[in-house]
Amino acid sequence: MEDRKNTQQQAVALPGEVEPELARRRMAQLQQDIERFSVAYYEQDAPLVSDHEFDLLLRELTAWEAAWPQFAAADSPTRRVGGRAVAKFAPRRHAAPLLSLENAFDTADISAFYSRLEKAGLSAPALLAEPKMDGLSLAVTYENGVYRSAATRGDGITGEDVTANVATIHGLPRQLRRSDIPLLIVRGEAYIPKQLFVALNAEREEAGETLFANPRNAAAGSIRQLDPAVTASRGLHVFFYDIVSCEGAQPASQQELLALLDELGLPVNHEARLCHGVTEAEAYLAEMTEKRHRLPYDIDGMVLKLNDIASRARLGSTSKYPRWAIAYKFPPEQAETVVEDIVVSVGRTGALTPTAWLQPVALAGSTISRATLHNEDNIREKDIRIGDHVLIQKAGDVIPEVVRVLIEKRDGSEQLFAMPQQCPQCGSPVVRRDGEAAHRCTNAHCPARLYEQIVHFAAKPAMDIDGLGPAVVRQLLDASLVHDVADLYHLQQEQLTALPRFGVKSAENLLAAIEKSRTNPLSRLLFALGIRHVGERAGKVLAAHFADIDALMAADQEELVAIDEIGAVIAGSIIDYFAQPANRVLIERLREAGLNLRGEARSDAARPGALHGRTVVISGTLPGIERDAAKARLEAAGAKVSGSVSRRTDYLLLGENPGSKLEKAQELGIAVLDWPSMLALLEGDGDA
Ligand code: AMP
Ligand code: ZN
Repeated sequence: MEDRKNTQQQAVALPGEVEPELARRRMAQLQQDIERFSVAYYEQDAPLVSDHEFDLLLRELTAWEAAWPQFAAADSPTRRVGGRAVAKFAPRRHAAPLLSLENAFDTADISAFYSRLEKAGLSAPALLAEPKMDGLSLAVTYENGVYRSAATRGDGITGEDVTANVATIHGLPRQLRRSDIPLLIVRGEAYIPKQLFVALNAEREEAGETLFANPRNAAAGSIRQLDPAVTASRGLHVFFYDIVSCEGAQPASQQELLALLDELGLPVNHEARLCHGVTEAEAYLAEMTEKRHRLPYDIDGMVLKLNDIASRARLGSTSKYPRWAIAYKFPPEQAETVVEDIVVSVGRTGALTPTAWLQPVALAGSTISRATLHNEDNIREKDIRIGDHVLIQKAGDVIPEVVRVLIEKRDGSEQLFAMPQQCPQCGSPVVRRDGEAAHRCTNAHCPARLYEQIVHFAAKPAMDIDGLGPAVVRQLLDASLVHDVADLYHLQQEQLTALPRFGVKSAENLLAAIEKSRTNPLSRLLFALGIRHVGERAGKVLAAHFADIDALMAADQEELVAIDEIGAVIAGSIIDYFAQPANRVLIERLREAGLNLRGEARSDAARPGALHGRTVVISGTLPGIERDAAKARLEAAGAKVSGSVSRRTDYLLLGENPGSKLEKAQELGIAVLDWPSMLALLEGDGDA
């Protein structure tokens, strides 16, 4: 680890060596900047500078304050933890202050930290090195093993009550695995996995909303939502790493503490490692500096903690951080490259997104050749031109972005970029609506939109149609075989085999996968339709609430918001979607294609079952079940079991050695299911 402080701060005079007036001015300036940056970061979840720059400023102010204590403000940001609680949530006072951590940037800082431990009388103290999650810090309370409340860190003394929102976090237990702990307050970090962060930003980009700068801001923005359904839709996770207060158990070390939390069923990070001394700690930091890129979540450093809890008292804390721990921050990874071109693509909602095509360059574990430029404003603000030398980094360790242009490297040949006036896909006029950052193609049937819609429709968490990836979708569109997603269900084998590079086998497989998707639970279809704000979770909630899609389409705003987890935003967007005649036509076409449109809700009359009103015909020998038993199960689910295939047949249940019924069913385009798929349908699919 080289020393990063010097290179970054060379322009600044040393605090001890200047005129008092200069010191005072510099300190006032720093304080003002830090204040402004923290409001943006903590209260608006929209940072103005990188975390690294922020840390350096804070560090610089600390140094000045040490040299010129007479100029230090009583409410200096160096004495505060994080941000203030914001008025939209009820304030909640913490049982004990939730402190921040002192930063280390290099070997020297870590050695200094270790010497302080030794000076406090500890001999060869062991350190536990834990990943430093880049998320939102929370305190969560369990009483007698039951989830009670949750608060953000706020200013460390008082946070915001986010009990309802935190309850929606994936993997957060409502009940601990042990009930002999009368009170437990644990501290953890809520975060958004990298993949979901990428998806969330892509969605926001499409919707013309401002993007989250990094997963931390995405997590904070998602927790601090007035509508818990929005929080739920964001896919937050959490890791716990500390006990604020506990009755009933007393771990002796940080390692035991994590083991206890794990035993209680609280998610903990398993990358923690015990290090004996500075050399071991540094080796592990180096290992993690490399490994971090392969983790599914973003970490911005590693925390080194004195493992022995009893010894921590000897070191104590400042008002801002404990003296027994330190946070090593990874160096920012940036690379220089050239913008070879700026290319515009059109997304699922018609939004035009400019992308920089870069000279390929290695960065943070992969080769980067593209960086999203988001929208025209972003390009203007950063003044990015074709041919520019630029500095790039990965936002949240995943999304390559242009940090800034290296203006000094311009030679005059660079070209300004302008958003096209016509859609690059269909030539229709492009507009930018008031209040939106995105330019959009005005053509509702723009082929580019259709492409994105079908790719989304077929994706794994949506209809999960194996073999229908982007390249195949392109082929289908180029050959004009599909004009909406319903057309997928009418594809013929000959049409597919006529396409270049399409063999009989792959055609059969694709058709079988499409066929199989007809019986998907309604929750998947609702997500697959691409209704704005209706994610996987909302799809499940809606499918569980309504008896079928017709009931959903008939629901008004009031009925929708009355559903647990559905807020005004999601409700409004559902209403908008079904208000459009084209979308209603699509649903009818999907119904004709035999898709499952039934929800999992039970109506008031005895349970009509998953196959209420459906006619099923059985053909052949079913594996593992007698025909009569199968018939009874189908009837119990509300189906009518008939002996011959007709237009009124909804499903052909196919066993081994089927007769002519199969041919007939195929002729009529009736959904053909095997017993396992039928079972999945009967049981509303196990994926909810
Ligand atoms: P900072 O926000 O840069 O002052 O860093 C301190 C913050 O790191 C704490 O307030 C925690 O929210 C967070 N953090 C993330 N992971 C850990 C961890 N394993 N141990 C302690 N703090 C952590
Ligand atoms: Zn278009």
